[in-house]
Amino acid sequence: MRFVTRFAPSPTGYLHLGHAFSALTAYDAARAAGGRFVLRIEDIDQGRSRDEYEAAIYEDLDWLGIEWETPVRRQSQHLAEYQSVLERLQQRGLIYRCFRTRKQVAAAIATAPHGPSDDIFRGEALPASEEAAKLAAGEAFAWRLSLKKARAALGPAYFALVFEDESGPVRADPDRLGDVVLARKDFPASYHLASVWDDAQQGVTHVIRGEDLREAAHLHVLLQRLLGLPQPVYRHHRLVLDDDGKRLAKRDQAATLRALRASGKSSDDVRRMLCLEG
Ligand code: GLU
Repeated sequence: MRFVTRFAPSPTGYLHLGHAFSALTAYDAARAAGGRFVLRIEDIDQGRSRDEYEAAIYEDLDWLGIEWETPVRRQSQHLAEYQSVLERLQQRGLIYRCFRTRKQVAAAIATAPHGPSDDIFRGEALPASEEAAKLAAGEAFAWRLSLKKARAALGPAYFALVFEDESGPVRADPDRLGDVVLARKDFPASYHLASVWDDAQQGVTHVIRGEDLREAAHLHVLLQRLLGLPQPVYRHHRLVLDDDGKRLAKRDQAATLRALRASGKSSDDVRRMLCLEG
């Protein structure tokens, strides 16, 4: 069986133990399957991505003993592709401009008893004159995927979407995420759009990542179906926690791989700390 998996870090900080766990889990799985391991730099957040962090990613992965294929896919070099995917979705009426601010959406979600729903997200574009007025006034907007339109486009297949993860077959339920943002006024891609597109371009057959992204799989398989992309198998692994039982974050400097390296730890020590066999 063909097996291609990936590690897709964002260069917005130094890699820490949680990233090491993800990268090593994926790398070990590729080796065990006689498959391929690819790397992707998720640097679409150009305000927060830094070259220095990208260079550190290569250094840290190399120190961990991980080998990856080159050239590495860097999302900032593929913006035109995301733009054309977005245009395809737009031509099919599957996305719409949403002028609500993040704050307004968060407030609407907070007061909704059952999470995101069509009551919160409009599900379609504003009437043409209203939209034109907002555009003329230069108001910011986000392109949201319309679940209503996706349901109409796929018909019964929308409710029969299934993907495989570590627990077996799972029925996809994209409604639990609501109409997610796929791009913003001045930027052609969100994480969801770029990641789904790139997994397909890189031939990824197995998406291995932290369980904080488990919910996202419900949306990602819908995007794959709408865009005619192959569907990978999903494996979501446990998250690495700090001493207080909280999820490691980029701000936990002590857990960065470079801090561990500077303190004299080896990559085998890191594997032991993560309970991963070498
Ligand atoms: N770039 C994402 C992160 O740093 C990873 C997304 C993924 O693996 O799908 O958390």
